[in-house]
Amino acid sequence: MGFLLIALIIPLVAAIWVASDAKKRGYSNTAVIGWFIGVWFLLIVFLPLYLIFRSRKTFSFADDEATRVCPYCGKLFKGNPNFCPYCGEKLR
Ligand SMILES: [Zn+2]
Repeated sequence: MGFLLIALIIPLVAAIWVASDAKKRGYSNTAVIGWFIGVWFLLIVFLPLYLIFRSRKTFSFADDEATRVCPYCGKLFKGNPNFCPYCGEKLR
């Protein structure tokens, strides 16, 4: 009985954590529910998968995919250049 409870509660807690984390990262509701169910029923498979997926997404956000606003001219540009591609002001 105790084992059954643990076997159900631990994946549930992990699934709730994954779902709230995915929501914070702007995943769609369908994706959040998908990850929630996946982690709850197949914790061993989906939890490592989510962590890999998540770290990749974080990496690409911190890398080149982010869109920034130039503080001088207000235009949007991608990546992390040293100078604004529009007005040429130094950005760092
Ligand atoms: Zn600019």
